[in-house]
This record gives sequence, structure tokens and C-alpha cells, in this order.
Amino acid sequence: MQNASSAIGTIAIGKTGYVGRFAPSPTGPLHFGSLLAAVASYLEARRNDGRWLVRIEDIDPPREQTGASDMIVAALDSYGLEWDGPITFQSTSDPQHRQLLQQLLAEGLAYECGCSRSDLAEVPRGPLGTIYPGYCRNGTSSLETAVRIRTNDRPIEFGDGLQGPQSQQLESESGDFIILRRDGLIAYHLAVAVDDDLQGVTEIVRGIDLMDSTPRQIWMQQCLGLHTPDYQHIPVAVHADGAKLSKLTGAQGIPMHEVKPTLVAALRALGQNPPEQLVDATLAEVWAWAKEHWRIDVLRGQTAVPDR
Ligand code: GLU
Repeated sequence: MQNASSAIGTIAIGKTGYVGRFAPSPTGPLHFGSLLAAVASYLEARRNDGRWLVRIEDIDPPREQTGASDMIVAALDSYGLEWDGPITFQSTSDPQHRQLLQQLLAEGLAYECGCSRSDLAEVPRGPLGTIYPGYCRNGTSSLETAVRIRTNDRPIEFGDGLQGPQSQQLESESGDFIILRRDGLIAYHLAVAVDDDLQGVTEIVRGIDLMDSTPRQIWMQQCLGLHTPDYQHIPVAVHADGAKLSKLTGAQGIPMHEVKPTLVAALRALGQNPPEQLVDATLAEVWAWAKEHWRIDVLRGQTAVPDR
């Protein structure tokens, strides 16, 4: 295990030991897929005698749903997940995000880009989206700009605790990517790298749908001189047709009146083997069983689990 150290300044919590987190975006109520990420990151933190933080990633208002933050927190609370310290909101670290953005621009590691969507309509796309061909690397005269971080093709490698060795060559696979959007909002890859460091996060347990974002986040950490946490990407819950559960695919919020059966179903989906009669136990007993028996390694190599 690595110790967290911050290159930015204030660390809100202790410097040593395991620090995990759950970082939902408030785009809708907590669905079964997000419950899996919450439960897995929570149990893994407890298994390691670590802290578990909850950070609401509220930096994309156009995608957010009014009341979603409150619904998510209420669901975590009803399901008996116990976070350490106050819940934080990513929007409160917006000044730090912007300060580091300015630093990257001043160092020439990032640049303003005036390309519009139509300018890029014909450029090649890959699994990560449009591969930016670097049109604005040497400057732009456009007044309406985004900011991109420069990339190169040195492989960004990391060993995922569950999914094994991963590697991406960013210049070829994504090109220089956006860290400040044209609408003035800070992009997720910058914000997540900064906040995990600010909060001293040492271990990230989250859905495998975010695994191909990880090299871009590691690149942000490297450009900013921040700590790289360890990563474990768990399978995502999928509908019967194989589509990932999300607001877009119509995933419903987890029920607030059937907490125990849903929690036991989540443990099952996470490859644990809860006894049938646990459904009749108290919520505290379910958690006591889960904390005692939690084994994340049964998820090794798994990418999808069925919806409950
Ligand atoms: N906020 C992101 C989401 O809800 C997750 C970020 C993360 O876990 O790194 O998809």
C-alpha cells in the first residue's frame, strides 16, 4: 500500500493508511450499478481498516438532476453505508482545479483549442472517442476556446488489482484531451485527479466502465505531480440485453423499502456468498456478515454481472 502525499497543499484527512472513496455524479438516483461500486469500495476500505469518503461530483450542471445529491445520500444512509468525515462536493474545489489549469497553461503542458465539433466531424474516432489530431497545438485565433492537455505516445501503464496490466498510448488513442470545456466547465479527468489527491485517496474501487479513463487520469496526475492511487475496477451491472445500467438505459433508483434484499442481492452480484437467511437478519447483521466475509478477489477478471 502506498502512502498518500499531496503536491497541492492542504490534506483534509490523515496522511497514511488506506483511503477509499465513492464518487457519484448527481445525474439521477442511486441505481443498482452504482450501489455495487459503493458497496465494493466501502467493504474494501473496511477490510483494510481504512477510511471511506463520499464525494458528490457535481461539476457538470447540464447533466445533473435537481435533488439527485440528496437522493443519493439518503440511499447510502438507508442502506447503512457509513462514510468517514463530512460528505464533500467536487464543486467546492473548483478554485483549485482552475489554479492548476492555469499552471498547466503557463508551463505549456496545456493549450487553448478553438476547434468546434464540426471542425472535428471528419477526424478518426477510436474506442475513447474522437482522436484529436492536434490542430491547435501551435495556437488558435478563435475566441471561443476549450483547453487541451498535451499527450505523447509513451505508454501509460498501470496494474489493475482485478483486471491485470493495462496500457494506453494517449496521443494515438485519444489525442490531446479536453480539461476545460468550451462552456467553461472543468472536465472530469482534471477534477478527479486533483480531488483524489487533495483528499489523500490511496485506492480507487469503481466500475470497469471507467477503466479506459484511468490512463488519462494518470497522465493528469503525472503532469500535475500528484499521487497515483491503486486501482481496482469491478464488473458493472448490465441489463438482460448486455447494456450497462445507467440513467440513459432507464435504470431505476434502488428501492428504499426493500433495503435488505437489495443489499443481499448486491453482495451476491459482487460474487460473495451470503446465506439465504441473511435476508431475515437485521441490516446491522447483514453488514457484519459482509465485513467479515468480504473477498474482492472473487471478482478478478469479471467485467459484467446481471442486474438484480
Ligand atoms: N463521478 C463518476 C461517475 O459517477 C465516477 C468517478 C470515479 O469513480 O472516478 O461516473
